[in-house]
Amino acid sequence: MKIKELILSEKPTLSFEVFPPKSDDGFDVILQAATEIADLSPSYMSVTAGAPVQNAEKTAQLCEQLLRRGVTPLAHLTCIGADEPAIDAKLADLRARGVENILALRGDIPGDMETPFSTYAHAGDLVQKIRASGDFCIGGACYPEHHPESKSADEDLTYLRAKVEAGCDFLVTQMFFDNDILYNFMYRMYRAGIDVPVVPGIMPVTNAKQIKRICAISHNILPQRFLRIVDRYGDDPDAMTEAGIAYATAQIIDLYANGFHAVHVYSMNKPQVAAKIKSNLAAILK
Ligand code: FAD
Repeated sequence: MKIKELILSEKPTLSFEVFPPKSDDGFDVILQAATEIADLSPSYMSVTAGAPVQNAEKTAQLCEQLLRRGVTPLAHLTCIGADEPAIDAKLADLRARGVENILALRGDIPGDMETPFSTYAHAGDLVQKIRASGDFCIGGACYPEHHPESKSADEDLTYLRAKVEAGCDFLVTQMFFDNDILYNFMYRMYRAGIDVPVVPGIMPVTNAKQIKRICAISHNILPQRFLRIVDRYGDDPDAMTEAGIAYATAQIIDLYANGFHAVHVYSMNKPQVAAKIKSNLAAILK
């Protein structure tokens, strides 16, 4: 099933993300978590990939397992440091396993990488390559608070438009904690002539440490009402989990109410978190 068809339907969709382990050791544990999330019957599940093209084998294996359980997978594929034969091999592998949907990413530049860019300097180059390689449904990443490497939001939008024009069918957003930031971004996107469907990505924050990591990576603006929750419940794991899930649920309901049909949850291999969010939205998703 192509994800662009799912997200264009009027029915609200909810999808979850899993990430594969870095080594073989943890594979069974992650597979178990992915299976439990798959049993919740999400609209689709995304499976992340390391960069440069690390873990892509495990990403493909997890995707295949999801397909066997009747869940449509979205395989992430990074291109930083990869040459054309490496990407050809990954695309052939994904195709052979029945994967139809790819989230095309550049990947973060590892600090120790001497020559980070090779054939594919930006995700748009990978999108173009995948588009020319067959009938995949292609997603790209977008950043409502603009990508940290961009000099400005306008510059980021210019490159985003080029990426979409290279062949993206849809976009998935970086996490954000204030929906108004997304609504403002959507307005600027439409003005810039970008009109592919956008899937908001929501991160349920279930422990206070997560926040520091998130801010270091994504430079997100954290609204006061969210910071109050972390201040009040950050030292109590159960309370923080409950409050983080409630905050994410409220964001999702607001998104559906404002016309977004598809929402993606960064469920971080946590079936309990995914299950609670799904049950919070049971009547809405009916
Ligand atoms: P790009 O679209 O290439 O953008 C990166 C930067 O380059 C931006 O500042 C952009 O404005 C600029 N740029 C783009 N095109 C050009 C151009 N032609 N000329 C000059 N500048 C340009 N990382 C992983 O390693 N694995 C994952 O599985 C993963 N999944 C993700 C899922 C989502 C939904 C998101 C939002 C991010 C994910 N990431 C993942 C992180 C992502 O790889 C990093 O944010 C990375 O730094 C940028 O990737 P990109 O695909 O957005 O790159």
